[in-house]
Amino acid sequence: MDLLKASLSEIATAVRSKKVSALEATQFFMNRAKKLNPKINAFISFDESAQDQARKIDEQVSRGEDPGPLAGVPWGIKDMFCTKGLRTTAASKILENFVPPYDATAVALLKKNGAVILGKLNQDEFAMGSSSENSHFGAVKNPWNLNCVAGGSSGGSAAAQALRMVAASTGTDTGGSIRQPASFCGVVGAKPTYGRISRYGIIAYASSLDQAGPLTNSVEDAALSLEIMCGKDIKDGTSSSLPVPSWKKNLNPSMRGRKIGVLKEYFQDGGLHPEVQAATEKALSELKQQGAEIVEVSVPLTKYAIPMYYLIAASEASSNLSRYDGVRFGFRSEFKSLAHINLSEFYSKTRGEGFGAEVKRRIMLGTYCLSAGYYEAFYNKAGQVRRMLRDEFSLAFEKCDVILSPVTAAPAFKLNERISDPLQMYLNDIFTVATNLAGLPGMSVPFATSKERLPIGIQLMANHFQEQKMLDAALALEGISGLKGLVADVL
Ligand code: GLN
Repeated sequence: MDLLKASLSEIATAVRSKKVSALEATQFFMNRAKKLNPKINAFISFDESAQDQARKIDEQVSRGEDPGPLAGVPWGIKDMFCTKGLRTTAASKILENFVPPYDATAVALLKKNGAVILGKLNQDEFAMGSSSENSHFGAVKNPWNLNCVAGGSSGGSAAAQALRMVAASTGTDTGGSIRQPASFCGVVGAKPTYGRISRYGIIAYASSLDQAGPLTNSVEDAALSLEIMCGKDIKDGTSSSLPVPSWKKNLNPSMRGRKIGVLKEYFQDGGLHPEVQAATEKALSELKQQGAEIVEVSVPLTKYAIPMYYLIAASEASSNLSRYDGVRFGFRSEFKSLAHINLSEFYSKTRGEGFGAEVKRRIMLGTYCLSAGYYEAFYNKAGQVRRMLRDEFSLAFEKCDVILSPVTAAPAFKLNERISDPLQMYLNDIFTVATNLAGLPGMSVPFATSKERLPIGIQLMANHFQEQKMLDAALALEGISGLKGLVADVL
């Protein structure tokens, strides 16, 4: 079996029928990951228990038990997910030595279904960023061009996936962090409707926006992974109790009679890179040729999506990150003696040294927006406009099944190009943040390659709980692009 090309189901079937052992699969991916990592910096930590996990799966198979639909499939986990006994840093110095005593529900579900965990993947610190350069462990590099960013914040997940250092990986998406790196690295990245995947055990960034999801080499693998990761969890009060459909089995690439929405506002200002524009137009015309109807829709409030998002995300982050105080867990600054400092000095020194610049910027912005006198004018107001945005999307989805757009205005940019200009970096999220504000499912599917050999993804969004429609359209685009199972080869 060619493990570089195999789907998740193919690997699991081979393991269940003893054609390949979980140990062989694990060693194949682990060797690749360890060999390639020094050049790409996708992993923060490797899980040295991976071989033991694999042996347990093989023993289950030998005993005639079924380890599940991910039997022996090696996964990489973004370092935002708590993993029992395995260091979880959120790419921050403040959690540099944090070893969680429990698994995030999403990780527990993967393990329960037979997955083997290879290690923890690099990212922007606390998932704040669009390039994976804001990491205490150094920037992730783009596997198609080592001078370019991998995209953020799940850059390690996307880069590892593009190089097949793992068979699948997890990411989190607060404002585009699964879709952007997926687009920059040429892999499939999907987030379901807010609430589908439990947030329990995922380090909180902005709780009303955070949603996890898989990064994979195909739409079929994304559908299967979503099925496994989604579901009601009593440990997360916002998790949805709607049943999880059999997305993979029901995949249907036929676009006959499907309505593909084009958001007027996303094409008004120009500013699209010509190759991204061409890819988007090609996607639309090919879907039309396959029988889809292209309809123009309008969501006027998307023009405020960036300010709305950065206000809400920073506010919630400032509150969520207040728990890192050097007292209960994580990093604590060196103090000669605690007898001569007051509590405020204690906090300031620890938090000043433990957090990176971007995280501090967000905490300051968020604390300001939540403070007495400003809360009503900023956080509350943004919440009201957010509700209106959600209603506008509901109206738009009365006219179409999915909305198709670019993921980012241009392919991957150069390392260090935007890091000193936060506003430029924030603008990279122009097409992705509205999805999270409205709680909608969204994904990126590789569709084209630029002249400079950089991948270009297409974004699809669907109405709440309509993941099937999104996955179907993605499958159609994957068929047209001929890029299924793309593996990066620059190294
Ligand atoms: N780039 C956005 C931010 O920095 C989105 C990040 C994310 O989705 N986690 O907040």
